[in-house]
Amino acid sequence: MAPAGSALSDLTVPKPLAPGLYIVATPIGNLRDITLRALDVLAGADLVLCEDTRVGGKLLAAHGISAKLERYDEHAAARARPMILARLAAGARIALTSDAGTPLISDPGYRLVREAAAQGVAVMPIPGPSALLAGLTVSGLPTDRFLFAGFPPPKSAARRQVFEELRAIPAALIFYESGPRLAGSLTDMAEVFGAREAAVARELTKIHETVLRGALADLASDPRLDTPRGEIVVIVGPPAARIATRDESETALREAVARLGPSAGAAEVARALGLPRRDLYSRALALKTESP
Ligand code: SAM
Repeated sequence: MAPAGSALSDLTVPKPLAPGLYIVATPIGNLRDITLRALDVLAGADLVLCEDTRVGGKLLAAHGISAKLERYDEHAAARARPMILARLAAGARIALTSDAGTPLISDPGYRLVREAAAQGVAVMPIPGPSALLAGLTVSGLPTDRFLFAGFPPPKSAARRQVFEELRAIPAALIFYESGPRLAGSLTDMAEVFGAREAAVARELTKIHETVLRGALADLASDPRLDTPRGEIVVIVGPPAARIATRDESETALREAVARLGPSAGAAEVARALGLPRRDLYSRALALKTESP
């Protein structure tokens, strides 16, 4: 067995880079948020792939590293991949980065990793920042189970449909969003997810870092979020209780509408089951016309 401490000291000394594809996480704002190992890999790689070579160049310059940079973004990926795979097959050490955070997370790289692995190339993670985990950890919401859902669709109808699909999942939900679309997304979230807690984390690790926490409906009407600039993560807390099945909510609604009428009946069931009042109300009106 290795003597105590040897594994640690091994790790403090950079080793020559083995051939392969390195998936290197880079800062999401603060340029000091980069690991020692990421710097070793970027300095030692034969080629560093960046979404934007100006962004990659700035990061490397800030850390005194000069490296050969090439573009690997959504547009260049399909064309560039065969050349990259050929170089990997020939034993090159290639680092894949993105503009910010962890490559492949709402960023290019999935196909490259898949094809490199399929041709037997070693693919190694160099973990570090990602906005989704940074946002989740400061949200004040339960972290034991979460689902990362990327960017919601830009149009409201498609967005609501995606939210509907996610509504009953017993986990926190994490979304990426842009400033101009935030207000619309929060409004749709409040409608579909109902009374759930949430957090809006903006410009994490940057000068204007802000985290707003509260009920979805309150965040949706918060004037500070009307036209926010910058980059945003939205975290929606898990549903308070198990979401009722359609049959259960239908039975509860029939009973409440018979007793209280459509408006108060829908409001009561919305409160009791944590479901959106608007949907229940239209269903309640339909029930009323259906009933003899
Ligand atoms: N690969 C990145 C990662 O690991 O987080 C995400 C790339 S995705 C194209 C960019 C989105 O991530 C932004 O639109 C925003 O939603 C989120 N994001 C990136 N940096 C952020 C930051 N500093 N604060 C809040 N959200 C951020």
